[in-house]
Amino acid sequence: MDHRIAAAMGAVLILALVSYAAGAAPSSLTYYINVAASGNATVVMVFASNGSGAFYTYVPRFEPWSVTVWRGAIVGKRIENSSAYFYHNATFEYLVDETGAFGMNISFRFPFASLYAGERGWFMTPLLGAPPGTTVTVVVTIEGLGSVLDVSLDNAIVRYSLDGNTLKVQRISLRPGGSRVTVDYRLARPVEETTMELDANGTLVRVRAVPYYKGLARAVAGVVGKAVPYLRDIFGYSPSSVDFKVFLPTRMDLSALGYVMGEDINAGGEGPIHLNLALLRFKEGYLETTVVHELVHKALGALGVPANRELRWFHEGVAQYVSVKICEKIGIDVSDAEASLESAARVFGSGLAKPGFVQRWTPSGDEGSYYAASYYVVATLAEERGGLSYIKRVASEIRRRGGVSSNQDLVEALSAAAGEDLAPRFRDWGFEVSETRVAAVPRLAAALAAAALAAAVAFSLLVILLWRRRGERCPYCYGEVPRGAAYCPYCGYPLRARSEEGYSAS
Ligand SMILES: [Zn+2]
Ligand SMILES: [Zn+2]
Repeated sequence: MDHRIAAAMGAVLILALVSYAAGAAPSSLTYYINVAASGNATVVMVFASNGSGAFYTYVPRFEPWSVTVWRGAIVGKRIENSSAYFYHNATFEYLVDETGAFGMNISFRFPFASLYAGERGWFMTPLLGAPPGTTVTVVVTIEGLGSVLDVSLDNAIVRYSLDGNTLKVQRISLRPGGSRVTVDYRLARPVEETTMELDANGTLVRVRAVPYYKGLARAVAGVVGKAVPYLRDIFGYSPSSVDFKVFLPTRMDLSALGYVMGEDINAGGEGPIHLNLALLRFKEGYLETTVVHELVHKALGALGVPANRELRWFHEGVAQYVSVKICEKIGIDVSDAEASLESAARVFGSGLAKPGFVQRWTPSGDEGSYYAASYYVVATLAEERGGLSYIKRVASEIRRRGGVSSNQDLVEALSAAAGEDLAPRFRDWGFEVSETRVAAVPRLAAALAAAALAAAVAFSLLVILLWRRRGERCPYCYGEVPRGAAYCPYCGYPLRARSEEGYSAS
């Protein structure tokens, strides 16, 4: 508690100093972003000031950027890691010229600034940053812009003006961890989607998207080709073809990176895999694990595991566990994903919370805890019994039974594959399952047990809620994120607007 107050006071002090400095020297930063028909953009950041001082902002980590000074001089420069994975923090100390002015540009290329699916386009700025007191403007020119559907700043609606293809958002108040502007729009003339067909090591991969995403299609086919031998070995799943469709995020809602329709899973794992095009802008490892994750859902569907409210946890737990393991085997860096899964599951390992609440999949906004608990149960059982080889024994047990339709069925299959009755373990975790082949317990005892279980479940939820409030966690990868950050530093997931104490001043 104490250090938080101290940190808040420190922040207030810094803000006071900076706004004093800014008051003395009004400065402005304008982002000019030019989006070509392909969706790739060039960015020119124009910074101007009427007094010497320091300017800090975000610059891309993986794209080269260049600086042009057109008034005054830069006398110091510092580039540091930022809390955002794709960006560095750049600080420039500058002096005005004899007319009392300083001006500089920072330019860089910005691939996949706009993404397209069907008639729609989705644009998101790079991470915006400037010292408090700077007047920040974003000017975006989008080739092929039809009608604007929605413009948001950090996921909240924002005022804008439109002149032809050029959209302007003025006097933006930035968050300390950086901000983003998004534009959801309709294209004047939609780019026609095609079906790109690729051979993935004997599996036909079909990706339906606009032709700009050939690179994505190749990456997807590469992952499928490498993952299918493992999926065949573990689940006996080797599809002759896999279809992919793409979808766009809305504003900054990236709550799903990929999905397979529940009814398609329940119909034997048929149907296409839907991929969020925003994956094009994610760190390496996310597209790969998402593709394998969705393939695991299909493999489980083909085995006869429905993704219903009761068994959804098993689907998600296995999909998370197996996708990371397979991606690791095929040479993809999943250290972030692995570390964040482990840290998210820690609350269950420590016994502070019981994961059994997932037996009724009703997250309503609390997906993070449900995914973490599902992962914890599957990973714990598997790691104690040989990892993927245990999952393989479970899969063949499920196949032998012609599928499973309830948690009772599932625990029996998991027990058979483990060679021991796992029902007591599941009850410890808060699941309502009865022993396999054991006489029914007397009614009063059953009622007492049910009451105890209900209390345990309620307690788990309470602990999870408290735990969620204490630390800031990314809802996608569950990594611990800095307070007030707009983006997860591990996976790039945009974190929703939070009304955090200490950050409203600007
Ligand atoms: Zn899933
Ligand atoms: Zn994350």
